[in-house]
Amino acid sequence: MENVQKDKPLKGFGTACIHSGHVPDPNYAHLTPIYASSTYVFDTAEQGMNRFSGKEKGYIYSRWGNPSFTEAENKIAALETFGIKDESGNPLEAKAILHASGMAALTTLFISSLKQGDKVLTHASLYGGTDELLQKIFPSLGIETVIMDMHDPGQVEDTLKKDPSIRLMYLETPANPTLRCVDLEANIHLAKKYHILSAVDNTFASPYLQQPFRYGADYVFHSTTKFLNGHGTAVGGVLIGRDIKKMNENIIKIHRLLGGNSNPFDAYLLSNGIKTLEVRMERHCSNAMKVADFLEKHPAISKVNYPGLSSHPDHAIAQKQMKHPGSMMSFELKDGLEAGKKFIDKLKICVRAVSLGTCDTLVSHPASMTHYGVPKAQREKAGITDGLIRMSVGIENVEDLLEDLEQALE
Ligand SMILES: *Cc1c(COP(=O)(O)O)cnc(C)c1O
Repeated sequence: MENVQKDKPLKGFGTACIHSGHVPDPNYAHLTPIYASSTYVFDTAEQGMNRFSGKEKGYIYSRWGNPSFTEAENKIAALETFGIKDESGNPLEAKAILHASGMAALTTLFISSLKQGDKVLTHASLYGGTDELLQKIFPSLGIETVIMDMHDPGQVEDTLKKDPSIRLMYLETPANPTLRCVDLEANIHLAKKYHILSAVDNTFASPYLQQPFRYGADYVFHSTTKFLNGHGTAVGGVLIGRDIKKMNENIIKIHRLLGGNSNPFDAYLLSNGIKTLEVRMERHCSNAMKVADFLEKHPAISKVNYPGLSSHPDHAIAQKQMKHPGSMMSFELKDGLEAGKKFIDKLKICVRAVSLGTCDTLVSHPASMTHYGVPKAQREKAGITDGLIRMSVGIENVEDLLEDLEQALE
């Protein structure tokens, strides 16, 4: 029993969060134990040879794979493909590879998809680390990035038509920290039309809210540090691909050689965190809608960026491709940076920290924290002003959050 979904399609996403990916333990442990073992034993030399050649399935060495990783990988693959059919009408299958961090998974994605002379097409206001990786590291390997507004399919098509060296379309939606969204269906359609790869950073949405494979994306990426883990207990990343043969051959080889493998303890924390993804996301999103409404009406606030508000420029895109508009938002105080700092310091329940997707509400200041490395002019063009405050709304009781915000805004 490799994957519950293969045996019998489950009706509910929440059930898949709990049961998919689990393999009964030979010692009857309820949960998959933490396989804290760097290497695996062969009964005979021949068995060792057969495992290396792939003739026999089995673990070899933990940089190459570990049962604690496998459980999390199969769970995430099941959730990203949940309820989706492939071209021939069968349940879509995908392969996930767990990594030490989101950035390690991105490195595998970019190195495996691009070679010298190739370009990435993407939009402004990406995760700060992704932006720096593309702009500061890859140019020295001869890989350039084209950044454009991807809201107009006509312009995207013109760019793809004119520049055949673009080999990968990279989308992050909703994007950090302005929560701008891009149309997955329209853009992935163009990637396919021009025979280039497409990858989506689905970290802010989670597979419960949005499934890029529905629109034919080649790769989905997550920083599992965020909503998938859900409790802020471990850094991790995952790359999921729909071309299983390519994932099992080319991509896994690059991943193993780059060495950004996960570790059994973090993988165990991740598998257990994912079990409550559906219930957490429901609460995250209902709290966020109430917090966004409260902030938008508050006289001290000049602007709220939340895709669930009809005032957000991408409200319609979010409504089209997301189950709920998520729990991430950002806002500006009328009196700018100084007022923002005072507000942050007065918070009693909301926690002052970067990162997101944890049970508790986290508040940060992008210009001086997550986007410190992005040049000011580029930052401001993407709406990341000095006064912008980012909030990851948690799953506390919303009355307590609203009271905390109210007293801090006084
Ligand atoms: C956190 C994050 C990353 C990077 O992931 P790490 O786990 O910190 O390496 C990438 N994209 C988004 C949207 C993120 O929030």
